[in-house]
Formats: sequence, C-alpha cells, structure tokens
Amino acid sequence: MSNENQVKHWHVTYNNIHNLIRKNCSKIAVDFNPDLLVAIGMSSSPFTCHRIRINQALGFFPARVMRTFLREATTKKTLQIQAIGLSLYEPVEGVAEEKIAEEVIRTQWLGAEAGKMLLGKRVLIVDEVDDTRKTLSYALTELKRDVETELLNRPEADRDALRASTKFGIFVVHNKNKPKLAELPEGTTYYSGEEVDDVWLDYPWESTDIEEHDRLAALDVENATAATKKDV
Ligand code: 5GP
Repeated sequence: MSNENQVKHWHVTYNNIHNLIRKNCSKIAVDFNPDLLVAIGMSSSPFTCHRIRINQALGFFPARVMRTFLREATTKKTLQIQAIGLSLYEPVEGVAEEKIAEEVIRTQWLGAEAGKMLLGKRVLIVDEVDDTRKTLSYALTELKRDVETELLNRPEADRDALRASTKFGIFVVHNKNKPKLAELPEGTTYYSGEEVDDVWLDYPWESTDIEEHDRLAALDVENATAATKKDV
C-alpha cells in the first residue's frame, strides 16, 4: 500500500480528552444545563468480522469526566449517567457490491422505563467521535421515539408541554470535518470538543501500553509541528 493510501492516524491522550471536555463544560452548563447524560458505549474495540467492520462507540470515559466538570460549573449537580450500546456495521472495502446492509445495531438500551426516564429532562448524548454521524443520528432518533411512546401514556392535553420540556443535545470529543452520511434535525444542540481532519483517531482506552501510546501522541504533535514549519 502506498503512503497516500494509508489512513493517517492521530493519537489522542487522556489529558487531551480531559482538557477538551474542561474547555467546553462551562458553556454547556450555562447553555444547556443537562439533567442526564446518555453515554454511547460498547465494551470492546472496533474489529473486522466476516468482512464487515464493526465500529463501537465509546462515550463512557468522556461522560464520566464531563460529570466532574459539570458538577463544578453548576450548583454541585450530580448527574446520572445512563449507557446505551451501539455498534455501526458497515461493509469494508471491496464488499460494497455485495450490498451488505449498513446499520446501527443496539447492544444495550435504557430498559422498559426509557421514556419515563427521559421525559421532561435535558438529555445530553455523549460520544467520543462523530465520524459518519450515523451512530449519533440513530441514538437521537431512537431516544426521541422512546419519549413519544411515553407521551401516549400521558393525557393528550399535557403532551405538547411535556414534549417541549424534553430537550436533547449532543457532545462529542471530536468531530471529523467530512461529508456526513446521516443528518441531525436542524437546530439540534451540538457541541464538539475539537474539529479534526478526517484521520483515524487512536484513543488511549484502546491501547494496552499507555506509555507507548503517549509517546506516539507526542511524536504526532512533533511531526505535525515540523510539517507546519516546512510549509511556511
Ligand atoms: P459514526 O460513523 O457513526 O459517526 O461513528 C461510529 C463509531 O465508529 C464511533 O462512535 C467510534 O466508536 C468509531 N469511530 C469512528 N471514527 C473513529 C476514529 O477515528 N477512531 C476510533 N477509535 N473510532 C472511530
């Protein structure tokens, strides 16, 4: 494979993530002031199986860090973190012609009381990265569906007010600047810690050797700085 065809990697450290969340939390506390965090997560790392790449979201760590900063930025509010598990199944290169369905699979959800839990709350969905946006779009649509289901149990006269008092927002640590394959409804509250190029981000929780991971992260910064200097 030539260099041009290789996916560019960028190593992200725990400290990078922590600081990106810190930078955003005072604004989120004032503007959105969430009542509940819904972390998108899965327990294992991305892998390829039967020529289908399975991308697994991991918003647990960012959500937990966010809770610490939101507590500082609010009246010591201790936010509940709920978890949903989603995996994005997509064909890997060369199998598109086989028309394998690309879809987001639920591996964990909020339980039978999901709608009750969400209704009337300001819910912030948290994930580590917005890549194609399919995962976030799916999560938002399905959580809203749970709210609509719960509204059917409420008196018709109360439904509009209850619906209006239920707000959803999104926080991702990184948003990749690239054409997205799914859309979010216009006006969706959306925060990203950082806008990044379309590179493959290596997260620290995927590493089995954190010192080596941090060394590679420092090297990425060094190389990027050297490349910028060469350009000027
Ligand atoms: P989506 O394409 O739906 O926006 O992202 C699906 C999932 O793919 C993300 O939640 C994440 O787990 C995984 N993913 C996408 N891009 C990257 C990346 O650059 N690095 C890592 N580690 N995972 C990614």
